[in-house]
Amino acid sequence: LANKKFHPEPSIVTVGNVEIGGKDLVIMSGPCAVESHDQVLETAIAIKKAGAKILRGGAYKPRTSPYSFQGLEEEGLRYMKEAREATGLPVICEVTSLEAIESAVKYVDMLQIGARNMQNFYLLKEVGKTGLPVLLKRGLSATIEEWLNASEYIMAEGNRNVVLCERGIRTFETATRNTLDISAVPVIKEKSHLPIIVDPSHATGVRNYVKPLAKSAVAVGADGLMIETHPNPATALSDGPQSLTFPQFEELCEELRPFAALM
Ligand code: PEP
Ligand code: MN
Repeated sequence: LANKKFHPEPSIVTVGNVEIGGKDLVIMSGPCAVESHDQVLETAIAIKKAGAKILRGGAYKPRTSPYSFQGLEEEGLRYMKEAREATGLPVICEVTSLEAIESAVKYVDMLQIGARNMQNFYLLKEVGKTGLPVLLKRGLSATIEEWLNASEYIMAEGNRNVVLCERGIRTFETATRNTLDISAVPVIKEKSHLPIIVDPSHATGVRNYVKPLAKSAVAVGADGLMIETHPNPATALSDGPQSLTFPQFEELCEELRPFAALM
């Protein structure tokens, strides 16, 4: 179902009033984790002004350590929905369990399957059954073939609204959190009709590398970007070091404008 051989035209996935895979570059942005009503609302207003089209924010956080902040769960989903009502931006949240899916469908416009769950086939089938658009992140050590097979699990349930997200893979390099596999974009474009976006925030883990890699993603033909932003990254409950401030995010959007239609 994901194979371009049987579906040569590029697919467009619609999230609220936003088309991913069309001629505009779609930027999703927001905090790693939803922390409070005000944090999410303030972020939504700032990123919308800069040119972002979708608000992201995690309410269920799959943290490496069980002692790290795990997310506000349903309360966080509610804040995301309130931010959508205030700004009109569609919202995306990661889901990590069946209970999370059951809650999220009441609040969000797009579901995210995180890197750590890319091969959680049970979860893939369950998001497939919802019919909501799904952002499928590439697994930490997944090949492109495995990633596309994961997308098949969602589509085989009758849900064709899948967008892929390259977010860096594990390599021997330690200067960055992961290694952005920029070649995944042209490889996916050759093999599949599905839209693909790039997440330079999780790929690098370092704020200063986000802008250059975002530009590289646009240069190789990505359909969108996912960029973590925070009103005050120093106090973020997760992924502060890779989060952009609002002025930095605005600057990034401005610098992308000559190369991509943002609105
Ligand atoms: C996230 O988007 O906040 C996240 C946890 O990303 P990943 O699954 O790519 O690590
Ligand atoms: Mn994060």
